Amino acid sequence: MNKTQVPALEGWFTMDAEKPHLLGTQCKGCGTYYFPRQTVFCKNPACESEAFDEVQLSRTGKVWSFTNACYQPPEPFVAPDPFVPYTIVAVELEKEKMIVLGQAVEGVEVSDLKAGMDMELVLETLFEDDENEKLTWKWKPLPTDGGAA
Ligand SMILES: [Zn+2]
Repeated sequence: MNKTQVPALEGWFTMDAEKPHLLGTQCKGCGTYYFPRQTVFCKNPACESEAFDEVQLSRTGKVWSFTNACYQPPEPFVAPDPFVPYTIVAVELEKEKMIVLGQAVEGVEVSDLKAGMDMELVLETLFEDDENEKLTWKWKPLPTDGGAA
């Protein structure tokens, strides 16, 4: 029996298998992007706006920083149980120029990553229960042109 694919975190990303997008908000006053979504007040001290647009954020960006996470992530991030260490990547989104953290896809280790590398957003199963596969967003290196030297 096929399990149903559901988001591990409701409302954080689109469930598009091919081209998923993270869901954020953009302040109508100053244009600042927020992820996770900010909908109550703008964090920009110079801005008094309380109105936000829902936006789909860029699905590509460049590696800004990365690390090996050998501990359980804090809420609201969900980790598989039993916990296995994973690679966590901070990616600067192409258009918004904001940093979004995520796990690297399975099999990608710290030694595979370099600052400035192009990454794209994908959905991968985080864990499953009896009925559902719970999906989350992950960062996957984009193939480089010309191959590795
Ligand atoms: Zn604002």
